[in-house]
Order: sequence, then structure tokens, then C-alpha cells
Amino acid sequence: MKNKCALCKGELKEKIIDYKVYGKIIGKFKAKVCNSCGEQWFDEETSKKIEDAEKKEGVFGLSVETKIGYSGNSLIIRIPVELAKFMNLKRETRVLLYPEDKNKICVMVK
Ligand SMILES: [Zn+2]
Repeated sequence: MKNKCALCKGELKEKIIDYKVYGKIIGKFKAKVCNSCGEQWFDEETSKKIEDAEKKEGVFGLSVETKIGYSGNSLIIRIPVELAKFMNLKRETRVLLYPEDKNKICVMVK
């Protein structure tokens, strides 16, 4: 790994960081952190360890691409079962739906 940030050319410093996934710390990992933009870079070995930790915590692969469908006159988005489980969503769970900007819809579990 080079010691320059691939995004901004800032300097990288090796640190042990608390790695967070969806707001939950899943462990401490070795990273090279950019002193300019804050981006964190991981070597292959660490990436594998992070993946294992994500699987163990049940947060691996929760970000998925899905497609808008339709039902009657409404557009619908299917939520994969792993994500539903993680968010504790069930049939009839009340959620608040609102646009955050033109590219992002938030679904807030009440
Ligand atoms: Zn940077």
C-alpha cells in the first residue's frame, strides 16, 4: 500500500480504528487513515478480517441493489429478508417515509 491517499493525495498514517457498520462498532482494525480527507484504507488481510466480523455480527451484505416494482397504483420496493431481520421489520411495522434529497429516500422505523 502506498502512503498517499488515492482520493486526495493526502498523507496516510497507520492507526488502529474502531470499525463501525450501520452505527455499530464491530471491532478494532489496522487502517491507514488520510490526514486530509479522513478516508480509511485497509490492506487485503484486514479487509478479510472485517468481512468475517461483519458476517459474525450479521451486518454483511445488507446494502443491496433492488428495483422499483408496482402493485396496483403504487410503486413498491422489496426489502431483502436479511435487511428486514437486521431492522426488525415485520408485516404491518409502521415506518415513516420521506425524501432526504432527490437521490435518497429515508425509511424510518417508528
Ligand atoms: Zn485523502
